[in-house]
Amino acid sequence: MAEKHIAIIGGGPAGLMAAEVLSSSGHRVTVYDSMPSVARKFLLAGKSGLNITHSEDFALFADRFGAASQRLRPALDGFKPSDIRDWAEELGTETFIGSSGRVFPRVMKASPLLRAWLARLEARGVSILTRHRWSGFADERLVFETPQGQSFVEYDAVLLALGGASYPRLGSDAAWVDWLGNRKIDIAPFQPANCGFEVAWSAPFRDRFAGAPLKAVTATSEAGTFPGEFVISKTGIEGSLVYAHAAALRDRLVNENSAALIIDLAPGRATERLARDLARQDPKASLSNRLRKAAGIEGVKAGLVRELAGPPALSQPEDLARLIKALPIPLLRPRPIVEAISSAGGIRWSELDDNYMVRKLPGIFVAGEMIDWEAPTGGYLLTACFATGRAAAEGMEAWLKR
Ligand SMILES: Cc1cc2nc3c(=O)[nH]c(=O)nc-3n(C[C@H](O)[C@H](O)[C@H](O)COP(=O)(O)OP(=O)(O)OC[C@H]3O[C@@H](n4cnc5c(N)ncnc54)[C@H](O)[C@@H]3O)c2cc1C
Repeated sequence: MAEKHIAIIGGGPAGLMAAEVLSSSGHRVTVYDSMPSVARKFLLAGKSGLNITHSEDFALFADRFGAASQRLRPALDGFKPSDIRDWAEELGTETFIGSSGRVFPRVMKASPLLRAWLARLEARGVSILTRHRWSGFADERLVFETPQGQSFVEYDAVLLALGGASYPRLGSDAAWVDWLGNRKIDIAPFQPANCGFEVAWSAPFRDRFAGAPLKAVTATSEAGTFPGEFVISKTGIEGSLVYAHAAALRDRLVNENSAALIIDLAPGRATERLARDLARQDPKASLSNRLRKAAGIEGVKAGLVRELAGPPALSQPEDLARLIKALPIPLLRPRPIVEAISSAGGIRWSELDDNYMVRKLPGIFVAGEMIDWEAPTGGYLLTACFATGRAAAEGMEAWLKR
């Protein structure tokens, strides 16, 4: 096949993975990114250790993407979690499986992997043009805003890997929604995913406990019951256990206008036993003492019980035991999308063919978080971005050969 000029717009994990595949087939690949450097979100993910994928059974893994699981499956089959580990290792980054089954680089950061990756792309002839903000199409050319003014680019095929709508300061500002919307592409509205929620804390509770972690609890929503930990924030609750429930809670808030996360503050203990132990306490003792002695509950956990339980429940051992086992935290709304780890929504699957090409825009392919899927934290997000980047690149190759 004669050499083609391929424009990849967006230098995050999805775009760079596509550049890797297409450059190894000998195409002339240019990656354009609006920011002064690429992969800023990937680097930020590295600040918390870079949970790059997950080691659980692959059938379970591939089912974590909700309604999109089926459409994503061929891409995930093509680049499985074990392939990601091999790929990272090839680039000099050894990975390990943490106690939760999540996979991290041994160095617990993203920068060495990204450095090695960019060096390999450069060695394969990939050009990376930063400070090139794509602003739509003019006739059949791409338009970029650059520090030198507008630039018009002709291409044989384009991959858009522009990201979702969270953390826009890292580059993924979702401005493309208008440009593709104008071309009649159906885009599901972006919503926060893996996000915190707002709670109407009293001022004394907020002042005393903002920043405090609740460890070794379980939380229940329509998503299920999971063990873990979360943090009280000034505005509400956040942290991994909250993110695990975020999609279910967000959807419930949209549909029912109210939602609560149910917390078990003493997972190892039965309600009846707790009630008996609480009943044995001196009724004149303070609530703090009764909770500590009967249930081992103190600090922020005791504070949460006091904050959320009405006075009658606090004096009745059975009621108090029931609350300790199932304390509802009423939620007002998700935190804004700009703070969310990821976003739900994006280009609807019905707009894409099996090659990740936009049906209405022949030659334009998409990958990564800009497509309508969501997943919990746990390495699922990066895995799907890598996998769709590869699948779209392979789809583009098939289309170029047609
Ligand atoms: C704080 C944080 C921690 C995270 N931790 C993890 C983790 O541990 N594990 C995990 O699996 N996931 C994690 N994620 C999620 C993961 O980083 C994202 O899902 C992933 O980066 C999305 O990849 P992408 O390539 O689709 O888009 P992005 O990484 O968002 O890249 C999109 C690129 O497109 C560029 N761009 C956008 N618009 C334009 C335009 N008009 N013109 C030119 N360029 C443009 C942007 O500058 C950006 O470089 C985390 C996210 C955050 C915010």
